[in-house]
Amino acid sequence: MHSTNAAYIEARQRLAATNLKRCPLCDSLNAAANSECFVCRWHGQFLQDQKSIEEGLADLLNKCPEYQEKPVRKPRSKVSRLSNLMRRMLYGPVDFRV
Ligand SMILES: [Zn+2]
Repeated sequence: MHSTNAAYIEARQRLAATNLKRCPLCDSLNAAANSECFVCRWHGQFLQDQKSIEEGLADLLNKCPEYQEKPVRKPRSKVSRLSNLMRRMLYGPVDFRV
């Protein structure tokens, strides 16, 4: 019995889509619990459809390929906090009690 990697990634993406939202102004992914964008301070309607989230994820992974690799020493920044969140969602045990 084995699960396919694709199914695993798809499940993770679905999970990410329910716990992330994307800023319509700067395209940053935010935790769904955030009331305002951590980058540009936008507070209002966020994009939460799965397509937007997936695009946001792909975009983030493109811009920051280190997210795809094993954990490295991380600078203390908002972006790195988000990256930790993302990494937990995509690769780690699931725990959203942040
Ligand atoms: Zn923003």
